Amino acid sequence: MTAAREAMACQICLAPLNTLGAPPTYVHPVQLATDGHEAVPVPVSQLDTVRRTCDFCGDPYPTWTLVGGEVTAVAIGAAAGLVQNFGQAWAACATCQTHIDDGRNDKVVDRAVQAFGLGDHPQVRERIEQLHQAFLNARLPGRTLITTTAWPDTAITPRELPKVRDRLARLYRSDDDLPLAVASTDVREHIAAGLDRARLFWIDSDFTDLAECAAEKLPDATISLDFMPSTDGLLVWSRPITHRQIAAASWTATNDGWQLINYRTIGGGLGGTPLQRLREQVGWLAPTSTVQVQEQHVLPGQHPATALIATWLLVVQQVAEVTTAVVDKAIRKSYARTNRPVPEVRILSIGANRGTTPPTTQSAMGASERSQSSRFWVSGHWRNQPYGPGRALRRPVYISPFLRGPDDAPIKLSTTVRILSSQKPKPARD
Ligand SMILES: [Zn+2]
Ligand SMILES: [Zn+2]
Repeated sequence: MTAAREAMACQICLAPLNTLGAPPTYVHPVQLATDGHEAVPVPVSQLDTVRRTCDFCGDPYPTWTLVGGEVTAVAIGAAAGLVQNFGQAWAACATCQTHIDDGRNDKVVDRAVQAFGLGDHPQVRERIEQLHQAFLNARLPGRTLITTTAWPDTAITPRELPKVRDRLARLYRSDDDLPLAVASTDVREHIAAGLDRARLFWIDSDFTDLAECAAEKLPDATISLDFMPSTDGLLVWSRPITHRQIAAASWTATNDGWQLINYRTIGGGLGGTPLQRLREQVGWLAPTSTVQVQEQHVLPGQHPATALIATWLLVVQQVAEVTTAVVDKAIRKSYARTNRPVPEVRILSIGANRGTTPPTTQSAMGASERSQSSRFWVSGHWRNQPYGPGRALRRPVYISPFLRGPDDAPIKLSTTVRILSSQKPKPARD
C-alpha cells in the first residue's frame, strides 16, 4: 500500500481514502471499521466534512495541515498493524500543533503512544519518534487550516459577535493558508476589509428554526441587492443549520457582485492552551464554502448559499423583529482605543406578536392540538412575487409561516408536521 497523495474521501463514510496499486484504486484505511461498504471516492474539495484524524495522535479534530518529509507506508508492531494515510501532508490537531510550536515533540509522541494503545514500550516509542522526526525535520514553513473537521458546535452570543468578527478578519489577514477560492492574498484582504465594515446580525433560536425550514424549500432565487439587509455583513445563527451545518455566513461586496462564504465553528470541546491559541490565531469561525455571485445571478435551490439567502429574504419580508445587543465593555473599550465606532449587533427574532397562530386557524384547531405543550412551524411555502419599478422584478416570499399551539408554549422545530384541518390558513402576515 502506498500513501494517498490525492485528497480523496469516501462519500458514504467521509473517511479519507488510501490508494492501492497502479492505476490506483481508492480503499478505506485498513484500521478503519466500516459497515462493509465499498469506498466511493470523491475529491475532498467537494465535501464540507471529512472524517480525518490527527496523523500524529489520532485525535478526531485535526486543525492544521503541515507539509513535511515524505513518509510512505508505515507499520508499527506486528500485532498493532498501524498503517496510516501518511504522505507529505499531515493533519495535526490543535494540541499536537501547540506542542510542536513549543518544541515539545516528546509530548506529541506521548499522545501517539497513548492514543494508539501501543503500550509504553521503549521500542514502540522510538519508532514513533523516528516517524515524527522524519516528517518534522523536513517540514516546510506554513500551515493550512483544515475546514472540513466536524467540530462539536460552539455557541456564539450576540455580545461576542464583534470579537468573533475581528478575529475572522485577522484570520483572513494572517499568514496561515486557507483552502478554497479564498486562497489569494488579494481576495483575503478584500474579505477582511469587508468584515471590518460588515453589519453584524445574530439570529435567535426561533428565527433560526424558521430560517432552516424556509431554506430547505427555497426555490431558485435571483440574487439582488434589493433583498440584502446590508452591502457587507456577517450573520450568525443560534445553532448550525441545514444538513451542511452552517453556523454563520458572510457577504462582501466586490467590484462585480458579492462573495458569499459559509462558516462552521471550530474549537468546540478544546480547553487550556490549545483552545487559547486557536482563539487567538484563528478565532471561532472557519470558512467551509464560498461562491461569487452577481446581481441577477440565479442560484438553484439546495445551493450552499441557500441558508443565507432564505434568511435574507425573511428579514426583508419583515418576519423578524430587530433589537440591538449590548456589546461587552471590553469590546467597546478596544474599539475606542483604535478609534472605531462602537460596533452594533442586530438581533433578529420572531417577536411576541409575529408569526403566531392566525385567527382563522384558531377555530379549526382540534382539541388534541389545543392541549399541545409546544408550538411548531406549519408548512410555509415560497412564492415568487413581483416587486420593484413596474413590478417587473421577482423575489421569493415565504407564505404562511405560522405557529400552532398555545401562545405561551415553547416553539419546537418540526419540518414534518402538516396542516391537519382541511381549511387552508390565511398567511399570518402579508
Ligand atoms: Zn466509506
Ligand atoms: Zn494530535
